[in-house]
Amino acid sequence: MVIKALSQLIATPQKWRDVLDTPAVVVDLDVVEKNLQRGADVARANGLEFRPHIKTHKIPMLAKAQMELGAVGITAQKISEAEVMVDAGITDVLISYNIVGDQKLRRLRSLSERVKLRTVADHKTVVSGLAEHFHDAKTECGVLVELDGGLNRCGATTADVAMEVAHEIDAAQGLRFDGFMIYPAPNKWKQAQNFLAECKLRCTQEGLSARVLSTGGTPDMLNVAADDNVTEYRAGSYIYNDRSLVEFGTVSEADCALSVLATVVSTPTEHRAVVDAGSKSLTSDLFGMENFGIVKGHSKARVFALSEEHGHIEFSPLERPSIGDKLEIIPNHACVVSNLVDYIHFVRGDYLVGKQAVVARGTVT
Ligand code: PLP
Repeated sequence: MVIKALSQLIATPQKWRDVLDTPAVVVDLDVVEKNLQRGADVARANGLEFRPHIKTHKIPMLAKAQMELGAVGITAQKISEAEVMVDAGITDVLISYNIVGDQKLRRLRSLSERVKLRTVADHKTVVSGLAEHFHDAKTECGVLVELDGGLNRCGATTADVAMEVAHEIDAAQGLRFDGFMIYPAPNKWKQAQNFLAECKLRCTQEGLSARVLSTGGTPDMLNVAADDNVTEYRAGSYIYNDRSLVEFGTVSEADCALSVLATVVSTPTEHRAVVDAGSKSLTSDLFGMENFGIVKGHSKARVFALSEEHGHIEFSPLERPSIGDKLEIIPNHACVVSNLVDYIHFVRGDYLVGKQAVVARGTVT
């Protein structure tokens, strides 16, 4: 398979483990291509519109690859992320986050004048803010009601609350009620689908039309089945995958495209090596696990602690590497790792194929 958007990355004779300074975030493009295809295939096989979440990679080249494989548009968590992608040529965006406050609402309105835009709301106060800024817009802003998928994060927690917000949107000048969005907690995808079904039925009973029923998440991507109560799927992590998804059983280590290359800088005991990648490279995210990543090729090694610039790893004595050796660590949570670095180094197998700026790095407004 040739993905045109990725063709700017060209094989070099350089072996990346030899030439990259560390710590370096490395992504295997062969694995990315397989992951991209898998996501696109699952959506297509289930008749779903695919709207990948770009918060995982924050790189326009990869968003374009996702579009090339059939995505209807992208999901972004923040307006600033969306702005980067729109500047790069993406024309259809869902911002899956309550937009609150005058500054952000002005930016949302400007963005809506450039591309097809949708956002979400889970409370009438959020709807009022949107309505104030869109009442005189030439094109209505599509709004989905966000439902709580069991994460105890944002989202209406009952169908009654969701319908109250839906009616507010429907009544507001400049806004268009488009349907519902949910992000299921791991193992809660069925409950999430039932919640979408309940809200869809309520819409039929109450004279509203829920054209978009959007769910998502990589952990459930392979569980999702064609269902009248889902029209759209949003996955983010699937492009890189990470240790949390290996632990959850969604993917295997071989499906993880992203790793952090680190150098052993100290071996204070026969059991312990210290690498130059700490929390500023691997992040402190534990996601309920007991340590901070998988050390490739060392199944018993445990990254048991992180200082900012030190990774503390326990080995059995016979396995412990020496000062100067390089290790590849699959982090617990790839999405946060990619937000920590200016560049991702892309490789195919042993060879370097180029680097890309993480253009939307740090875009959190
Ligand atoms: N949709 C929303 C609203 C999210 O918050 C996320 C991830 O945080 C996703 C989709 C993508 O989830 P995943 O990274 O599990 O694919």
